[in-house]
Amino acid sequence: MSFKTKFFKISNPITKNFSFGRFSNLLPFGNQILVYHLVSDAYLKHAKHLFPYRSVKQFEHDLDFLSKHFEFINWETFLKQKTEKVTTKKPTILLTFDDGYAEFYDIIYPILKRKGIYAVNFINPKFIDNKELMWRNKASLLVSEITGNETLQSKISQLPDFGNDLKINLDSILKIKYKNRGQLDLIADLLEINFDIYLKNKPVYLTTEQLLKLKNDGFGISSHGWDHPLYNQLSLEDQLANTQRSLDYMRENEFLNDSFAFPFTDHLVENQFFDSIFKRNTDLKFTFGAAGLKLDSNPKNLQRIPIEIGNYSAEEILKNEILYYQFLKKFNKNRIIRS
Ligand SMILES: [Zn+2]
Repeated sequence: MSFKTKFFKISNPITKNFSFGRFSNLLPFGNQILVYHLVSDAYLKHAKHLFPYRSVKQFEHDLDFLSKHFEFINWETFLKQKTEKVTTKKPTILLTFDDGYAEFYDIIYPILKRKGIYAVNFINPKFIDNKELMWRNKASLLVSEITGNETLQSKISQLPDFGNDLKINLDSILKIKYKNRGQLDLIADLLEINFDIYLKNKPVYLTTEQLLKLKNDGFGISSHGWDHPLYNQLSLEDQLANTQRSLDYMRENEFLNDSFAFPFTDHLVENQFFDSIFKRNTDLKFTFGAAGLKLDSNPKNLQRIPIEIGNYSAEEILKNEILYYQFLKKFNKNRIIRS
């Protein structure tokens, strides 16, 4: 359990008893950037083991709370706020969604449209049009299929690279790294689980047609890396290549090429990466991490607040984020320092 998770566990029973108004004065920034993945009432085998996504009811509840205390802004206003220091009555929120899941079009888009709220989608071009299942979705799907299936459980206990303890086996599938992602295909073959059939039965990601519709309706489509690697496990050269390929896709398709959100985390990504990527892409204005309320030693790298944590509502997350930021600030730890 991370220190922040422990902090939330202790602070939440306390912050719960106070109205948000007691915390809003302690907000360190005028603009907050929130990140979700998807919203669904269904059991999504490919996502269930990766992050706790919201039900439609929970998501609407989040939006109702946020609308009361914040002003939602679009990408254009966001850029203006950053460069011209525009002041607003309420603090502002830029809503973002990562990975380009199909639920954005089917479920989230109609809700946002009804409420007049805008969002940016950070997508991985490799998986658009459901050409392939992303490696982390493969891991989640495998674990979902194996859980509760005795035949598969006994099969997997006989696999050479995975020990005999089932729990360890399921855990180790979720721990397979990007560079070893081929192992996921190997396991699927051995268990006769077909990723392509899964994708064909129900689309997991957005299609090009949907992206164009969203763009034409004012929603942002931007870059999340080519195929969702964990950046601190890549060489600098591979970090740059993966990012560049996704930025080139955005340029070619006339989506947003002025922004990029790191897949997973920007943890341990060094200044050299930022220097090179901003130098090569003069249109690029901001990159985004997901470390919560925090400053970054690179002023063009902005941290977003991940909302899908445990069972916390957006209100609970924000209260605890604010308290955590003020706590870190006391120890001068509220800024990410990069080498
Ligand atoms: Zn992602």
